[in-house]
Amino acid sequence: MGKSALRRWIRGSCSHLLCLGIYHAIRASAGSLENPIGARDTILVVAPHPDDETLACGGTIAAAVASGARVVVACATDGRLGGAAHGDVDNLVARRLDELTLALHALGGGAVELVAFDLEDGRLAESLPALASRLEEVVSRVRPNVVFSPSPLEPHPDHRAVGEAVRSVLTPDRAQLFEYLVWLWTQPRTWLGRRGATVREVGGARRVKIDTAIFRRAKSAALDAYRSQRGESGALAPRFLRFFPPTVEVFLQPAGYRSSTPLRGPEGSELGTQDGATTMRCE
Ligand SMILES: [Zn+2]
Repeated sequence: MGKSALRRWIRGSCSHLLCLGIYHAIRASAGSLENPIGARDTILVVAPHPDDETLACGGTIAAAVASGARVVVACATDGRLGGAAHGDVDNLVARRLDELTLALHALGGGAVELVAFDLEDGRLAESLPALASRLEEVVSRVRPNVVFSPSPLEPHPDHRAVGEAVRSVLTPDRAQLFEYLVWLWTQPRTWLGRRGATVREVGGARRVKIDTAIFRRAKSAALDAYRSQRGESGALAPRFLRFFPPTVEVFLQPAGYRSSTPLRGPEGSELGTQDGATTMRCE
């Protein structure tokens, strides 16, 4: 290994450890929400790309199906940018849809309804009106009372666009909203930039974790379905998957969308902004 490769390796490892530390601090400071979903609930999970639903909410989807809830997954894009090595775009798009279908089958045994918007991967920020109108259609038809969607704090433009579109469609009186992080977990610059604004915003949200341990096999099987994304060079590399264990899933509930469901916090108390900000200080 040359000097510059070694420097890159050290920098990459330090960034990864910093991000893992932030992830574990947020997870530790999140209150536990047990059995948050029952048979009378209707769940909508919105994913920017095929695989986000499984990474961030796979265990929760399996738990919701097992509890008898209706579960609908809306996937915004066709995933065409997920795998440069796969050559033909049409093949990759078809393959990713197959993988998504297989993953949902692993999580819900055929009980999860899939709505694919088929918007172009990487261009959601330019398709906001189309995205919002597809979301409005789904929300009006499905009438979910619990929605899972990406946080608008996400650094990936497609994730941010979906997060913003969901908030624009979903007023707090329509459903409870749980937001998830995918790319933010892995981006030290986003955590440390903006003068700590991201840390403050995450600290100000209600942080919630759902224990999905008994559904870990289903989530692992669903992740295995994404063969085009696995392997050391794929998006779902082992290092990346450390942020998405099959045993617990972490969400943020923005102010205004908070459920009245009581949380069991690490100290047995309601979690406040200051507590979170202190725990997650990383400068
Ligand atoms: Zn994604």
